[in-house]
Amino acid sequence: MTIKGSCCCGGVRFELFEPPAMLGVCHCSRCRKAGSEAYVYVRAEAFRWLAGRDLLTRYRPKPPHRFTRTFCKRCGASLGDPESGRILAIAANCLDDDPGITTTFHEYEPDQAPWDRKPRPSTGSG
Ligand SMILES: [Zn+2]
Ligand SMILES: [Zn+2]
Repeated sequence: MTIKGSCCCGGVRFELFEPPAMLGVCHCSRCRKAGSEAYVYVRAEAFRWLAGRDLLTRYRPKPPHRFTRTFCKRCGASLGDPESGRILAIAANCLDDDPGITTTFHEYEPDQAPWDRKPRPSTGSG
């Protein structure tokens, strides 16, 4: 079973050879601004580029932040960090196939944007 993914313009393509172990949604301001907040976590051995490595560009933040972000330089799609570590965090936005998993955890919830609140239950007053 493979799960395919690609950037917005289709120039960058990749695949996962196994279902992700986790799917995390991060509410920090850095993820918000970079344009990817939901990530699937897969082992590095289960990830492969199919096309477009020449289109990749990276942003490395100043310490203490360490999460390198990879983008397609043609369309700007935020791909997460598919290049470092034994466990890769890949932007769920870029998946074309169902990863077979839904959100397993949330991070940085106190940093959530004021406009990004869950709808409150209706009071039913009509
Ligand atoms: Zn692209
Ligand atoms: Zn974040």
